[in-house]
Amino acid sequence: MDLFEHQAKELFARYGVAIPPGAVAWSPEEAEAVAADIGATVVVKAQVQVGGRGKAGGIQLAKDPAEARRHAERIIGMDIKGHVVRRVLVEQASEIAAEYYLSILHDRGGKGFLAMASSQGGIEIEEVAAVSPEAIVRVPINPLVGLRPYHVNQLLYGAGFDERARKGTAEIVTKLYDVLLGADCMLVEVNPLALTADGQVKALDAKVSIDDSSLFRHPDLEALRDTSAVDPQEQAAKERGLNYVKLDGWVGIIGNGAGLVMSTLDVVAQAGGKAANFLDVGGGASAETMADGLEVVLADPKVRSVLVNIFGGITRGDLVAQGILDALDRLGPRVRVPLVVRLDGTNAREGRELLAASPSDRVVPAGTMLEAAAKAVELAGPPPAGAAAGAGTTGTTGTTGTTGKGLA
Ligand code: GDP
Ligand code: MN
Repeated sequence: MDLFEHQAKELFARYGVAIPPGAVAWSPEEAEAVAADIGATVVVKAQVQVGGRGKAGGIQLAKDPAEARRHAERIIGMDIKGHVVRRVLVEQASEIAAEYYLSILHDRGGKGFLAMASSQGGIEIEEVAAVSPEAIVRVPINPLVGLRPYHVNQLLYGAGFDERARKGTAEIVTKLYDVLLGADCMLVEVNPLALTADGQVKALDAKVSIDDSSLFRHPDLEALRDTSAVDPQEQAAKERGLNYVKLDGWVGIIGNGAGLVMSTLDVVAQAGGKAANFLDVGGGASAETMADGLEVVLADPKVRSVLVNIFGGITRGDLVAQGILDALDRLGPRVRVPLVVRLDGTNAREGRELLAASPSDRVVPAGTMLEAAAKAVELAGPPPAGAAAGAGTTGTTGTTGTTGKGLA
């Protein structure tokens, strides 16, 4: 779960990481009031979870509260790379002498943490990495050893931080490490970390990504989740405890086991279709789970057919079939598209017999996975206008897990 800058800074503040004084504002009036409280030149910053806000005009300096209000009027409602701004952070402006980059993240490849620093802060780190990779210092940290002063020195001296910035940066690195551990973060990133004209070091920007699997022990952070940005189907699936990822095709997918579902997406692409979602109902494909799954998949108006692909291991095919039939009963006319069902493995024959005896004309049996995919694609009809049929790759890579953030 990614935090907004203002939330990340509130988290930083709890751990004593230096940040400029400020507060979030949901309206121009609030922005004006915050600026008046601060009583100095402020910076009004669009709160969206995407970089490059400065270039997009989403970060503006304001000399007085009235100007802060005018900037907020313009920034709230602005669309930055597809993200609509709903709130701004108003904080005291800093006079910047130097901008640095600092981050600590999980490094799966390195089986530990990785701290990174650069004296080329302020611009996107991917750009620095592409143009002058030598300007980024990488210091692996063994979690069992923890962050030690020599790590900090490697960062400070390796990246050539200004002498005046060393003490303040060392403190911030140490506290960021505390944030990383304390809040179970996958990534903490500060860009820019600023050395101000009067010699202070502060986090001017903040990016924090929390490990979703740890949220149960951080109810305060879980409460920050921005449900407005979450897709309604994904939200509904989460509430039902389903493992669902929305994709942009038109063939709904339900399967058991992540590997089987991934292959199903590929086979649908191979058959000339494109999956509308990833949905793994797991081992116990009970009637309730099937109905919940179908409901979520069918709520996507793009879905024109559904492919149910179940391999019975511990899961019994006859129970799955009964689950599908019960789900059809429960959902009734909401099942508006054909369901191509491929059952294999334990009790598959009994399952197929149950489905064959069903009075519903919605269920279309299929013998193999390939046949099922071809049938689901055929029954879905031609691709909707503007949709490109997927060949080969399904595009799901990167939708699960948190790797790939930062520079890992
Ligand atoms: P991003 O572009 O979305 O990453 O937003 P940042 O928060 O990193 O801000 C982008 C740039 O705006 C920074 O690199 C600074 O150059 C500038 N900026 C942000 N806060 C201040 C400030 O308080 N004073 C000044 N002078 N510039 C600022
Ligand atoms: Mn930034």
